[in-house]
Amino acid sequence: MHSNFINKLLNLKGVKVTKISHGDSFVKIYLKTNPREHICPACGSTTSKIHDYRKQLIKDLPLQLKNTYLILQKRRYACSCGKRFYESYDFLPRYHRMTNRLAHYICTELTKTISMTDVANRANVSVSTVSRIFNLINYGKTSLPDVLCIDEFKGNAETGKYQCILVDGKKNRILDILPDRSKSNLISYFKKIPRKERHNVKFFICDMWKQYVDLAKIFFPNAKIIIDKYHFIRQVTWAIEKVRKRLQKTMPYNLRKYYKRSRKLILTRYHKLKDESKKAVDLMLLYNDDLRIAHKLKEWFYEICQSDKYSYQRTEFSKWIENAQNSGIPEFEKCATTYIRWAKEIKNAFKYGYTNGPTEGFNNKIKVLKRVSFGLKNFKRFRNRIIHCSN
Ligand SMILES: [Zn+2]
Repeated sequence: MHSNFINKLLNLKGVKVTKISHGDSFVKIYLKTNPREHICPACGSTTSKIHDYRKQLIKDLPLQLKNTYLILQKRRYACSCGKRFYESYDFLPRYHRMTNRLAHYICTELTKTISMTDVANRANVSVSTVSRIFNLINYGKTSLPDVLCIDEFKGNAETGKYQCILVDGKKNRILDILPDRSKSNLISYFKKIPRKERHNVKFFICDMWKQYVDLAKIFFPNAKIIIDKYHFIRQVTWAIEKVRKRLQKTMPYNLRKYYKRSRKLILTRYHKLKDESKKAVDLMLLYNDDLRIAHKLKEWFYEICQSDKYSYQRTEFSKWIENAQNSGIPEFEKCATTYIRWAKEIKNAFKYGYTNGPTEGFNNKIKVLKRVSFGLKNFKRFRNRIIHCSN
């Protein structure tokens, strides 16, 4: 028999295949090892006296899409001191009923955003086995980077509705997931981090939540605080949306419908529109003074954001605020007030170009994980799984 080839296929060290049997859904491979001298774990002397044999069923990676079982003829040795012991195998962790490579396969499958039940089915083990293996995986906190991004997501964990995510904005890696976003929790978390490590943070990127900025000032005194671009641009988007909706209410029904469909036209950059759409926008703006001013402010603000010249951005931003304040449009006056309050952090966004983009990507992954896992109530496990799937 070409047992040599089968051995190569199996790729397990020091075993001989004695028999293979196939069922419709399984393959059983019978194995044994060559007897050799063993060192007694009790007294340290050598022995090659075989006491008896026992068969052990071990699950392995699926072969030919069939569930694969290794049936190992386990040998027990006897020592002159009276100790009896089983031989050990490289491919088999002690007391385990699966090969190392199957356990490794399970860990790898767990990095995908699929449910534990799916992983269990793929590996032909029970969900509780998958869960037991996953419980061995634990991610500690990694040290703080130069560029620290913070954001929250709705995890609905046992610890709270919202969880915080810390991301290395340069290396695009999750640093940690915190059980909730409350100020007291964040304070006690950052307090534990050595001052020297905290002082190394050069950029802190967050959304327009005052709590984050307050924290950054206390714990990261050397960091430039940056408001994520998406979050401050959104203020302008919201403002023009509100203007459009306000005007819409004063219109006759048939025109109103037309304007609703025009939502996208108004939000899109004008120069990106097709000629036909440009005409539609021109017409809308012609008859609505407020919308025309709002649209001009929107286009101008997007222009500022898309520029890569900081000196231009800085001066135009101030001019923009002044114009918005005097626009006579309450939605944009409010927007200007918000921008004045966050001016420093927004200018930092222009100057240094960092965004919370990396974090947004992880948030999408978390959403999928939450869905396939039917919510992840247990926070510790939730955290480990997110990190396991993301880095
Ligand atoms: Zn002994």
